Amino acid sequence: MEHPENNPEFAGLTVNSGVGPVSIVNPYLKRGRYARHHFTANDYVEGILRGDVSVLGQAVTLVESTNPAHQLVAQEVIEKCLPYSGKSVRIGISGVPGAGKSTSIDEFGIHVLREYGGRLAVLAIDPSSERTKGSILGDKTRMEKLSVHPDSFIRPSPSAGSLGGVARKTRETIILCEAAGFDKIFVETVGVGQSETACHSMVDFFLLIQLAGTGDELQGIKRGIMEMADGIIINKCDGNNVDKCQLAATQFRNALHLFPMPESGWLPQVLTYSGFYGYGIKEVWDMIYKYFDFVKKNGYFEYRRNEQAKYWMYESINEQLRNSFFQNPTISDMLHAAEQSVLAGQKTSFVAAKQLLDAYFALLH
Ligand code: GDP
Repeated sequence: MEHPENNPEFAGLTVNSGVGPVSIVNPYLKRGRYARHHFTANDYVEGILRGDVSVLGQAVTLVESTNPAHQLVAQEVIEKCLPYSGKSVRIGISGVPGAGKSTSIDEFGIHVLREYGGRLAVLAIDPSSERTKGSILGDKTRMEKLSVHPDSFIRPSPSAGSLGGVARKTRETIILCEAAGFDKIFVETVGVGQSETACHSMVDFFLLIQLAGTGDELQGIKRGIMEMADGIIINKCDGNNVDKCQLAATQFRNALHLFPMPESGWLPQVLTYSGFYGYGIKEVWDMIYKYFDFVKKNGYFEYRRNEQAKYWMYESINEQLRNSFFQNPTISDMLHAAEQSVLAGQKTSFVAAKQLLDAYFALLH
């Protein structure tokens, strides 16, 4: 008997035979998941060239991975995407925390997509931040409008690591985004320290967001950062802050006149705007596109990209040499002892360094 409960001893109880298990709602789900682990470099490249953001996202994860097997595939993907990259405008956006970067980028992105069309990728370089620890959600909520825009791709900074490593990954991600048809790239960076230099070395226009209202606007802004800027924009020019912002703008303009003329031949502009209320955003972008016209005509656009390519070649060599040295097991065993001898005054730093390097070079033979 099919069901023991239907036995006469359980009279009054009838169990009907049931229905079979329901079929899986999405028959492709399992296959898709399985397939993802078997993506070859060519699968990634194909997906990227098709403009598929889901494949692009997975490829970026691969670029960010420290697993050597992932890195091998990532490098192949990057190399194959390289011929399709480069056709974009890359804009670095920097400012101290609280300057209004997220609010502004959200508005800027919407403005640029509406006025100029195309697709926009927003990337970041932030080697220090807690925010970067996989908090995509954090970045999505920071840029509410852009995050739901069909033509945008937002990616937080690669997770904390050496600045060189984080910056290289962002630069490689730019290549993938461009190959996927993103013709506008924003690279956001927190305006505290070395990240600006890294950001500056991968963008065509470096935009510095500043605030007014402290009375000593120019203090605390490193001269180097101001010198890198192709445009300085003073945010929060709204409410009763307007006069202060205009005063700050005048101070910045005066300060910029004291610097030598930049290589581009373009005198950096200073504008005021309000990211929150949307005042002055059009003027900011008219200025940036005027810059692109200017440097594309005078050849500086191409020149700057070539210089950057050279810079990244050397950076890449430096980074890999350093990694090869420090990740060598013999060397890392010797490092601690050498450090102790230096601290104990038994060896000078130079002798210790030389012995370590000699040992390293001997290992290579
Ligand atoms: P971030 O740290 O540079 O990304 O800055 P946020 O975009 O998170 O902005 C920091 C704070 O400044 C938030 O409370 C914003 O609402 C505020 N804020 C941003 N832009 C403006 C603006 O144009 N005007 C005013 N009044 N406040 C703003």
